[in-house]
Amino acid sequence: MWPNGFLNITSRGRRSESQVYLTFDDGPDPRFTPSLLDILAQHQIKASFFVLADACAAYPELVRQTAEAGHDIGIHSYSHAHPWRLRQAEAREELHRCYHTLANITGNPPSLFRPAYGRIRPATLQEARALQLHTVLWNRSVIDWGAWGTLAGVSRRLAALKPGDIVLMHDARPDTNRPETTLTALQSFLNTDKAASLEFSGLSHLTKKRFRN
Ligand SMILES: [Zn+2]
Repeated sequence: MWPNGFLNITSRGRRSESQVYLTFDDGPDPRFTPSLLDILAQHQIKASFFVLADACAAYPELVRQTAEAGHDIGIHSYSHAHPWRLRQAEAREELHRCYHTLANITGNPPSLFRPAYGRIRPATLQEARALQLHTVLWNRSVIDWGAWGTLAGVSRRLAALKPGDIVLMHDARPDTNRPETTLTALQSFLNTDKAASLEFSGLSHLTKKRFRN
């Protein structure tokens, strides 16, 4: 059922559970992350954040707040460089820099990794495994960027969430992300009966059970 388990990759939870795993990439961003933390706190929801280490170095207090609120924080990349444009040594260096930046800020070694653009290189994956990182992709995206990232579109995709989904969202605005739309749609969705029927957890809920490092 989990053919990639030996490489510590996952992209979906179990359909038989009620958990949904909201994930927010590319932050922290002081324009959006504090509002998102407020929304999650109002609904007593735990989520996961895949952060950019250069933004973490710029806003370490936001990272600490996120961790103290009980959310999971994983490595995304340093500056969102495309993994395939980096030389292998650069990709390795980037992963290690992120690991240490995050560990220094939170006081805990990170355990989750999502490569930029979800692009996996085998050597990077091996490196992530050596650092005991679980690589987590997603099976559902709200597509909160570009031409598809309208409020109606993001809201419709949120309404279609199913138990076991790992959901890609964004709380920062590099490239064409639309975090303002994400936050508005999420706030409305969390007030619905559908959202009340789901249980939202951080990814550590899933990875702790699945992987034995
Ligand atoms: Zn990203």
